[in-house]
This record gives sequence, structure tokens and C-alpha cells, in this order.
Amino acid sequence: MIKGQTSIRNNIEDFLCPFTDMYISQGSNGKYSHRGIMANDVRGKVAGVKYPYYAPCTCKCLKTYPETGQVMWQSINKVRFSNGRIDYATFMTAHDNAMNAKVGQLVKQGQQLGNMGNKGFSNMTGVHCHIEVSQSSDTTWKLNKYGNYMFNNEYDLDSCYFVDNTNIIKGMGGNWKTTNETPIKELSRKEIIDQILHIRSKVKFDGIFKVDIIKSPVSSNMFGCCELTGCSIDSYRKEKVQDYHWIPTYDFTEVDKNGAATKDQKLTGGSSYVINKNIYEIIDIDVKTNSAKLKINNHDIWVYSTFLYEV
Ligand SMILES: [Zn+2]
Repeated sequence: MIKGQTSIRNNIEDFLCPFTDMYISQGSNGKYSHRGIMANDVRGKVAGVKYPYYAPCTCKCLKTYPETGQVMWQSINKVRFSNGRIDYATFMTAHDNAMNAKVGQLVKQGQQLGNMGNKGFSNMTGVHCHIEVSQSSDTTWKLNKYGNYMFNNEYDLDSCYFVDNTNIIKGMGGNWKTTNETPIKELSRKEIIDQILHIRSKVKFDGIFKVDIIKSPVSSNMFGCCELTGCSIDSYRKEKVQDYHWIPTYDFTEVDKNGAATKDQKLTGGSSYVINKNIYEIIDIDVKTNSAKLKINNHDIWVYSTFLYEV
């Protein structure tokens, strides 16, 4: 990319190659200091010159390591990678001698992020920028068995950046792609909206759900749904589930399994399907089980967050 370049399609930034000229002096899983990690050392046109590099996406400085001129960055929103994945980008740049990023600092896509350098462990390999990218929001930075630090969910760089306006001098045989070689698919509403649910997020149910069992007596107006709650049908039958695993029927509408309206609204365990078009507020979140607590008709229920979407 060049200075000031941006690329946004369908409201999502394309993750661009931060370098205007890219000469890879050490590739991923390299013998010297990249064993077991998906990192590239990139220098510019002329060896030894501390060329600037630019923000591949709008990102925020999460951590700095001044002794190695190293910075951990994370995209503000989900971005599009060159392999088509849409997720957060968490990435590390290193060896910037003049590193002056501050934790919390925002850098917009296309603005200067740093300069190639030789601070830290790169005296042997000369001036470059060491970069590695995780296609996730996971900031874990751990040592691997060869003694090199790495992220979880690292991808090789040709699966991360789009090389629009990058002059590839030495590309190490990577399958480098530009944005017009990677057409975008239409996104579902679910992919467009930030799907990290929080307490007080407003959500709707996403899907058609099977009514697995009706709570007895029928007048309790509750049903069990294994898919939504993760409870087995056996646990429901033996009433070995919590009260918050029974779902009040009031806000649910019976449909057939393709979602078309049915005439009779009498729910039958094992054969009815339902939808729910109401908006609820999340009362609580359980990260471990990826569940959310909602109140339906004054009754608290816990369901998997994946069946809810933020509105
Ligand atoms: Zn390196």
C-alpha cells in the first residue's frame, strides 16, 4: 500500500499490505528466528533504509515493547483478509528504532504506523519490519517450542494482506492477491453487525427452533428446546433441567420447518417449530458456555448466544 491508501467494501476494511516495497528477507517458519511462526521480515527497496510502513487497517495500539521497538496492534472492527475471512486482526510489528506508539493510540488505515529498523534482535538481519498477524481478537502472545513468540490463529501473510499498490521485490513465492482478485460476497445481517454481545445488548432470535417438549402441566405454557439451551431431551423428560431452561411460549409463533406460518398455534413437543421476532435485552452473559440470559414474560432463560443477533 502507499501512504493514505484505504480500501473499504461493504463497510468492511480490506487488510492491506503495510509496505510500499516488499523485499522479504526471512519468511514464515524461517530457520533463523521464525521457526514455527508465521512471520515475515520485510525490508524496502534499498537495504539499510528505514522506510515507513502504514496501517493495514484502522487499529489501536494495545501494547508496546520499547526495548525491541515492538508494538501489538488490533483492528477496531472486523476486517477482510485476503483469504476471504472476516475477523479481527491482532498483529505485531517490531524493530522500529523511533517507536513512539502509545497504548490506546488509534491509527487510521493508510496512516504511518512506524518505520523499518533494527532495534532489538535484528542486528544480524539488518533493517526490516518483523510482522505477524492473528486473524482473531485473541491477544495471547506465547513462546513456542523453538523459543519464538507467536499468536494463536496466526496465518501466513499471503492469506492476510491484499497487495494493492505494493511493489513485490522478493515475495518468497507467496500467493499474493489484490482486492480485485478477491470479490466480496454479500454479507448477512449477522456478519455486518458487531456480534460481541454485552449486558444490555438488544437482541433478536435468529432461526427456526424445534419445540422438543412441552412442560407439564400444559397450562405452565413453557417448552424445552435442546438446540437453544444445550440440554438433552432426556434431561427435559426427567425434569433434570433448571427452571431457566424452560422457555415461555407466549412470544413464540408456530411455523412449519421452513418458517412459513401455520394455522393452528397449538405447540406439540417433538413436531412443532417456532420463531420469535421480539427484541430482548441481555441481562447477563456467561463467556464459558457462550450463553446469554434474557427475560421473557418475567421468566429468566439462558440460551446460546449464537442463536441471538444484535440489533
Ligand atoms: Zn522476524
